[in-house]
Amino acid sequence: MAVMATPAREVSVFGDAIAYFKEAADLLELDAGMRRILTSPARQIIFAIPFQRDSGEFEVYTGYRVQFSFARGPAKGGIRYHPGVTLDEVTALAFWMTWKCAVVDLPFGGGKGGVTCDPSTLSMNEIERITRRYAAELVEVVGPDKDVPAPDVNTTPQIMAWFMDTYSMHVRQNQPGVVTGKPLEIGGSRGRVEATGRGVTICALDEMSEIGLQPEKATVAIQGFGNVGKYAAKLFEERGCRVVGISDVTGAYYNQEGIYVSGAMAHVAQFGTLEGFKGGDKITNAELLASPCDVLVPAALEKVFTAETAAKVQAKLIVEGANGPTTPEADRIFREKGIVVIPDIMANAGGVTVSYFEWVQDRMGYFWKESEVNQRLEEFLLANLHEIRAIGNARGATLRTSAYTLAIDRVVKALKMRGIYA
Ligand code: NAD
Repeated sequence: MAVMATPAREVSVFGDAIAYFKEAADLLELDAGMRRILTSPARQIIFAIPFQRDSGEFEVYTGYRVQFSFARGPAKGGIRYHPGVTLDEVTALAFWMTWKCAVVDLPFGGGKGGVTCDPSTLSMNEIERITRRYAAELVEVVGPDKDVPAPDVNTTPQIMAWFMDTYSMHVRQNQPGVVTGKPLEIGGSRGRVEATGRGVTICALDEMSEIGLQPEKATVAIQGFGNVGKYAAKLFEERGCRVVGISDVTGAYYNQEGIYVSGAMAHVAQFGTLEGFKGGDKITNAELLASPCDVLVPAALEKVFTAETAAKVQAKLIVEGANGPTTPEADRIFREKGIVVIPDIMANAGGVTVSYFEWVQDRMGYFWKESEVNQRLEEFLLANLHEIRAIGNARGATLRTSAYTLAIDRVVKALKMRGIYA
């Protein structure tokens, strides 16, 4: 196991996150030393994952875990299985997690992990062997009080169960609080699956009331119909909004009269994607982003809004379900056009907030009803969204800059109280 701690300031994928960080750091008048500390990962770990394929052949993959900050508590962040996983990417995502946990006031730092692999070429048995080796390599540095992973791209509750079991076997005691996003049967939380989409809707409805958009008169378009997008769509519909556009990797569907979201969900459950969905006119994903709607929710990929796509947006409110969907150039355009943006670190923090609730329930050994989870989620998100809005009003800043300002200020205060142990 190679353990390194190198500055991440020049890492390319950091670009957008660093740009947003700098704007808030300027507003807070942070000195150069504090900026250096806040942009340097506390620990980066790279290790080999040798494993045996079902055919008997041996392969070696590379695993990563980056623990960016422990200032406010154990590191927290998902594990990604994807061919594009690199140390740069994992570091950038761990940096983001630091601000996301701080902005909703969770007692966590920021972390992220990954394995460079293509899960579509692996059997379940192979994925289990990779996961168990990945967990075993991290036994000394993860734990309920050290670092608490969770699912991310291509990792599932089953994978979290294997991670938890491997860790528990090594430490010789049951430790469900070592990971979140577990199946309900072994310490998962009710409400976790819908939590990110629910958080998107909670933030959106609150901001809609602020800018005078009544739910019954509002139209919503959503890019991406996966875990975040489909539950957000369903909850918008439940709250009386008209969902006029949805999309996934196969294309987009628009219906001015409103799309029947449960029908779209049933279609995806049956066929795997929205391909062939008859509840709206087929358009391109680019057309969806430029379509007439009041609220636009990117819930698929990063860098969706560039200078070109942002210029065509007609929505009044953008709610970032995805991580990093808006480039700094697009953000400037939204500002000029007066489009309000609820930034990713706030808008999609519902998932990590219910992960926090899962960790709390595991440690208590007492599990809440779904209604309690949802109520606490709403309280956490709204309290912090209101605080962000107050900062924005006082300083004349956007919600994004205000969110970073709140998050960075909380981490700085924790660091200063603890002191730098040198
Ligand atoms: P997912 O894999 O469940 O769904 C992704 C959806 O996006 C799918 O419907 C896919 O078809 C669609 N998509 C992919 N490429 C597309 C394209 N080019 N155009 C339109 N649609 C496309 O993923 P998810 O968990 O819903 O995550 C979506 C985003 O939200 C990611 O940025 C993720 O990092 C972020 N996020 C997820 C969570 C969570 O709890 N799941 C939490 C915070 C942030």
